[in-house]
Amino acid sequence: MSLFENIRDGKEPATIVYKDDYITAFEDIHPEAPVHILIIPNKTIKSLNEVVDDDVDYLSHILLGASKIAKLRGIGESGYRLITNCNYDGGQEVDYLHFHLVGGVRLGKMINLPKSSKKKMKE
Ligand code: 5GP
Repeated sequence: MSLFENIRDGKEPATIVYKDDYITAFEDIHPEAPVHILIIPNKTIKSLNEVVDDDVDYLSHILLGASKIAKLRGIGESGYRLITNCNYDGGQEVDYLHFHLVGGVRLGKMINLPKSSKKKMKE
């Protein structure tokens, strides 16, 4: 079993902030903003690349859950960002589809390319 499967199943400790039939949401262990919550589908899916048509209920509940959780945490009005990283270029480190819900502070530019990537764009 993988880390996020264990968190989902209650076998690994995490601060769960929301759970329903489709999704589980918990605090990121290394928050990068005052609010940093990870939202996962209750079905094991490795990344956005792996989703299939039958997963539409999981995906829609992730969006619905994100909106609910943002309001519960008081950042609905001030604003927030929902991000999923896919594979190497996307910066995905955990192989279980997850969405970062971040907010509670002004987040700045959406994409901050490292110098090496900026150089590559000019080639
Ligand atoms: P990724 O880079 O794959 O998009 O994001 C993985 C996220 O999982 C990171 O933000 C990281 O801090 C978080 N994370 C890694 N291990 C754990 C853990 O054991 N517990 C929790 N709650 N979050 C974790």
